[in-house]
Amino acid sequence: MVDVVEGGCHCGALRYRLSGALGDVAHCHCSICRRVSGGTLVTWVTLPFEAFQWLAGSPQRYMAPETCNRYFCGSCGAHVALVTTRSPDSIDVTVATLDHPERVPANRHIWVGSRLPWLQVDQGLPEEDEERL
Ligand SMILES: [Zn+2]
Ligand SMILES: [Zn+2]
Repeated sequence: MVDVVEGGCHCGALRYRLSGALGDVAHCHCSICRRVSGGTLVTWVTLPFEAFQWLAGSPQRYMAPETCNRYFCGSCGAHVALVTTRSPDSIDVTVATLDHPERVPANRHIWVGSRLPWLQVDQGLPEEDEERL
C-alpha cells in the first residue's frame, strides 16, 4: 500500500512529502537521537529514499554519528530526517513532524540498551539492542 502524506517543521520553513508504505516505524532510544532532538526518544518511519521529497525549504545538516546525516530546520530547529551510510537507499523521517503522526504508530523499539529506565511507552513491542537493517 502506498501512502502519500506530508509533514514539516514547526515554523513551516521545511515541508516534505512521503509516498510509500508507512509500515516500518521504530522508537529509537539512542543517546544521539535524544541529544539532537531534546526528546526522551525519537520515533522514525523508514522509507525508500526515492519516497521522500522536499516541498519547501533547505534543511541544515548535522552528522552524528559520522555515518548519519541528520536534517534539521535552521530556523526552528526541528529534526526532520536522517540518512545513514549504513543504508543509503532509505531515509528515516521523524513521525512527530508528520501532519498526522497519530496515524503512524510504532512497531518496534531500537537501541533499547540506551533507554531511559523511567520511560515506559508501547510496552510489548519487539525490542532490538541496536538495530537490524
Ligand atoms: Zn522550522
Ligand atoms: Zn537514535
